Amino acid sequence: MRVRACGVSDVGLARAHNEDTFGLDHPRGLFVVADGMGGHSHGEVAAQIAVDAIRDFIDKSLDHDTTWPFVYDSRLLRHSNLLKTAVRLAHDKVLRAIRDDRSLHGMGTTVVGFFLRGSVAAVAHVGDSRAYRFRNGTLDQLTQDHTWVHEQVVAGFLSKEQARAHPLKNVVTRALGGESEVVVDVREVEVQPGDLYLLCSDGLTTMLGDKDIKERLGKGRTLEEACRGLVADANARGGFDNVTVVLLGIEEPEEGDEEEEDETETE
Ligand code: CA
Repeated sequence: MRVRACGVSDVGLARAHNEDTFGLDHPRGLFVVADGMGGHSHGEVAAQIAVDAIRDFIDKSLDHDTTWPFVYDSRLLRHSNLLKTAVRLAHDKVLRAIRDDRSLHGMGTTVVGFFLRGSVAAVAHVGDSRAYRFRNGTLDQLTQDHTWVHEQVVAGFLSKEQARAHPLKNVVTRALGGESEVVVDVREVEVQPGDLYLLCSDGLTTMLGDKDIKERLGKGRTLEEACRGLVADANARGGFDNVTVVLLGIEEPEEGDEEEEDETETE
């Protein structure tokens, strides 16, 4: 399959720094959003380490069929295992950066990654950055937040809407750079031409509900307009946090196609 991609990261209206970041790696079909945390703008350091580490590992290991030095999950395809391992290594790199420079203590980052080979996308995440699929007018969330409020939703104590407005909505139960071990959730999704995939930080999803996102994606404009529209909608609701949106459009592969890339960053 062929992917068109657009990414926009915006500081929002309330924060001094943008601690989100994203990476688009077209040749490899790898797309990542990370939402950093930690005082003194160190969150952006953690987020950048994570995006770079994931990209570097995939870059190094994709074409080499050497012995597998990591835990290999035989239920998953090779590229899903690569992505899972890349996220684990990103966690190790964030921890190492903290060990090497105590002033970075307390930094961490969430991450969501989408890695497409053939017609199967591996979707991996840690924390509350999300992946959605928009297909035939239906929006499906592909990731389950690693947050305290999500646990309350699963247990039936809070509705999804209550969780979105809850004072503890930002409390993540898993992050890169947190506990010494990190558990990475990975799933595989068979993609179809016409699908749209959205990767985003919680700055989007705390400001917009699924219905708002669906409406915006259903307007059927270009990817860039949809990306900018989502960010503008989040800011129109108050823009309390950094907002990052990566949109991926799946198309039929065409012989000799030039792959298109559209990368935009605003502060
Ligand atoms: Ca955030």
